[in-house]
Amino acid sequence: VDDKLMRLEKLALLGQLSAGLAHELRNPMQSVKGFVQFLFEDQTENRFRDIVLTEIDRMDHLIHDFLLVTQPTAPKRGYYDINEIVFETVELIQTEATLHNVELSISVDCDQFDVHVDRAQIKQVMINILKNAIEAVGENGQVTIDVRTLNDKEVTIEIEDNGAGIPIAILGRLGEPFFSTKEGGTGLGLSISKRIIQEHKGSISFENKKSGTKVTISLLK
Ligand code: ADP
Ligand code: MG
Repeated sequence: VDDKLMRLEKLALLGQLSAGLAHELRNPMQSVKGFVQFLFEDQTENRFRDIVLTEIDRMDHLIHDFLLVTQPTAPKRGYYDINEIVFETVELIQTEATLHNVELSISVDCDQFDVHVDRAQIKQVMINILKNAIEAVGENGQVTIDVRTLNDKEVTIEIEDNGAGIPIAILGRLGEPFFSTKEGGTGLGLSISKRIIQEHKGSISFENKKSGTKVTISLLK
């Protein structure tokens, strides 16, 4: 038992240290970004500058997601209409979908259903899942979002894509931090999403369909 405790303490300490490091890295990165912009200010086109800036943004993004995993914040809950959350999220992701030639469609089965959630966190989850869906589909990509009220306490949000599906061999690893099959993927999206849904006492599941993947999120009133 002592051994296990010590290991857990070490892990917690490591988590704290790496989160601190991640946080500290952001400031110098932002100054590097500022100086690069300043140095090449008078040039409208410079491929190398653009690469440096893109890569800095990528690092910043990665650190942001890493901090979400290592320093989770407790949900600040309120009562919000799930349909409203869904429509707002889709608005946020629409540009990305259009860019990838993906058609997004939504259907809801009631006018209003209030859930007791942290609005920003649930939006974050939906964005992570929708991004994966958009990234998974190819030509004629289609992503559907279905809001279904199961009873007067529970609602599910199903997000289905017509992509390649999730290989059975990796189904068990979904949500493992840094697990990704994508080149340049962070493997943090699902890990963050699972944690948030867990904290909300909801559930999230992944299912392979004949064509594509269905993710089901369930939330409570
Ligand atoms: P990332 O998107 O950075 O790879 P995620 O945590 O969001 O990290 O996803 C982890 C992995 O789960 C992906 O790399 C991919 O292999 C798999 N995955 C997630 N969503 C889908 C999907 N809709 N279709 C197929 N594979 C998926
Ligand atoms: Mg992802």
